[in-house]
Amino acid sequence: MNTPSQNDRIIIFDTTLRDGEQSPGATLNVDEKLTIARQLARLGVDVIEAGFPYSSPGDFEAVQKIAQALGTTDGPTICGLARANRADIQAAAEALKPAVHARIHTFIATSDIHLKYKLKKTREEVLAIAEEMVAYAKSFVNDVEFSPEDAGRSDPEFLYQVLERVIAAGATTVNIPDTVGYTTPAEFGALIRGIKENVPNIDRAIISVHGHNDLGLAVANFLEAVKNGARQLECTINGIGERAGNAALEELVMALHVRRQYFNPFLGRPVESEEPLTRIDTRQIYKTSRLVSSLTGMLVQPNKAIVGANAFAHESGIHQDGVLKNKLTYEIMDAQLIGLTDNQIVLGKLSGRNAFRSRLKELGFELTEQELNKAFVRFKELADKKKEISDWDLEAIVNDEIQQAPDLFRLELVQVSCGDHACPTATVTLRTPDGQELTDAATGTGPVDAVYKAINRVVNVPNQLIEFSVQSVTAGIDAIGEVTIRLRYDSRLFSGHAANTDIIVASAQAYVNALNRLYAALQTKKAKIKAQDSEIELSLAQIPSTVKVEG
Ligand SMILES: [Zn+2]
Repeated sequence: MNTPSQNDRIIIFDTTLRDGEQSPGATLNVDEKLTIARQLARLGVDVIEAGFPYSSPGDFEAVQKIAQALGTTDGPTICGLARANRADIQAAAEALKPAVHARIHTFIATSDIHLKYKLKKTREEVLAIAEEMVAYAKSFVNDVEFSPEDAGRSDPEFLYQVLERVIAAGATTVNIPDTVGYTTPAEFGALIRGIKENVPNIDRAIISVHGHNDLGLAVANFLEAVKNGARQLECTINGIGERAGNAALEELVMALHVRRQYFNPFLGRPVESEEPLTRIDTRQIYKTSRLVSSLTGMLVQPNKAIVGANAFAHESGIHQDGVLKNKLTYEIMDAQLIGLTDNQIVLGKLSGRNAFRSRLKELGFELTEQELNKAFVRFKELADKKKEISDWDLEAIVNDEIQQAPDLFRLELVQVSCGDHACPTATVTLRTPDGQELTDAATGTGPVDAVYKAINRVVNVPNQLIEFSVQSVTAGIDAIGEVTIRLRYDSRLFSGHAANTDIIVASAQAYVNALNRLYAALQTKKAKIKAQDSEIELSLAQIPSTVKVEG
């Protein structure tokens, strides 16, 4: 039975690796997904939606590896997405096999507009497919989630009927998506209340919500849904995702934390003063945000709630004075709560290998001996340039190493000459995927432009640079600079990120990282599918239209 009880906390279902990864340019490789999944487990999410196994071999492998690494008895539930057909469900079941707690999430549209134009099926046919495919998923796993896609625009009576039938067929979670980000909080709350009141067997399933932020209302909609009985929230770190993104995990969790009395989910009893409403370790929030931002290349805007650079900064004199006297005058939460003040100066030039290794371990990085060696070399180089090395510096180094795929292009050398009387000139040497070392040189309007032109001469894949940004990891003139870039190939975006005390080197490395992603994508089936997929369906899963549908 799944009846929410007096003590049930809100379930946090993270879809950063599935819906979030669908952000334009946010493509992640398998190692990067695994790194993020490990951090999500540390953050304490209840469910990790690791991918859509049928969509590509890369997605299948990522879900399988995450299931192997994290699907332990006391680990999170690992979830895979599947359309309501046998081939998708089989692929999900296969990829999820190593996980102790595995969930198949299957879906089909229920709005008349989707039925008529997309599925070309009658209501009776859709009802039968939903029921049959939930039962099929149930033959592999106990934990089955069903989503009626475009629920917000579906006829409520038909929606109730579909939900009743899938619950009877074994669905343990029913997820209500606001697929196109159109609904307002009052409407969304009423939709959830309607389901609670009109689906006779709803007490046998958890009600979940999924939504997009097209009108900036996703988090507000979800919170209203909680007030009306929803007990699972599908969200992403930093709110990344298709178009304007998903509901942001950190905003939901902190709203539920700060306003716990108001959102009380415990049926028939008050919330105790320090009682958490979710299982999230809020001190891991800031770190998770930085990791996802650096690996996806999706920067966080400075005024972003909770994790933006200015979220805890007080500029006005009156506010500063008040905060110095008592933090609570202008702060509704302490920066420590999200782990923002944990940036300790930990290591220096004389720190040895063991200190380095154990600090990385404390920060939650699990490196192989070879990775550790490489990271230690980087650390020593950094320690020569920068006296005090903080946790954030260590994270920047390690994240930087994770992004460099060994079997693709590798930056061996970069050298520039520039200045106000010189013609900016760059020389680069790259190691190609087949092991050759190639050197070329170019001039440009500035040093970065010259470096990029030289790299392009070697790599020779036409692309357009559309975004370039530099940020510093910590304060001070010796700080590490982080460069994030995005480039376009055909209609697809690829991001690259790198960190170095020399921003020209970081720029070159970020560019090579983005080109490597482009290069890898060109070689996978997924790239072929997505490049052909010019009209993206504004839907829950954004399924490439060229994937075959069976069943
Ligand atoms: Zn979505």
